[in-house]
Amino acid sequence: MNFKDYIRVIHDYPQPGIRFKDITTLLQDGPAYRAAIEAMRAAVEHLEIDVIAGPEARGFVIGAPLAIALGVGFVPVRKPGKLPFDTVQASYDLEYGKDSLAIHTDAIKPGQRVLIADDLLATGGTIATTINLIRQLGGEVVGASFLIELSYLPGREKLGSGIEINSLITY
Ligand code: IMP
Repeated sequence: MNFKDYIRVIHDYPQPGIRFKDITTLLQDGPAYRAAIEAMRAAVEHLEIDVIAGPEARGFVIGAPLAIALGVGFVPVRKPGKLPFDTVQASYDLEYGKDSLAIHTDAIKPGQRVLIADDLLATGGTIATTINLIRQLGGEVVGASFLIELSYLPGREKLGSGIEINSLITY
């Protein structure tokens, strides 16, 4: 299956000059969605992970089905104020201003092997912050899986070495 055929590219969204990769066209197609998750599962099977962490919101639609496919748990990484129990937080720079992410303090146990899942790797800011949170809890980030990687941006370098990066579709 050529997964790229299921991605809709929208020009000048959300700003002029951006070619936005719209994954909703893949998600709404049952066989394509299932095949994409199965291909992502097969790529990380050897990592022997304990748990998947996914940043809101599109990290949930990739990370949760991937967790079920692997038979492991899923941990949501959310914007501050959304999680009900004790959290740790980390902030990161956006083009204009800052943003923060949070995780429950008991979501990951020290020494657990963690896979991060998200829809798309762009500059890597979101995932670098997610890595920071997991390490604060003592988790070992062994991999990061994406439906799409924008290889013309330096996201891969930002995640550093020692983390296996898998992406199904590359632009
Ligand atoms: P990064 O932090 O720059 O790597 O941005 C990654 C985040 O931005 C992901 O969680 C995506 O949901 C979102 N994102 C950035 N560009 C696109 C796009 O073209 N399509 C869909 N999501 C995008």
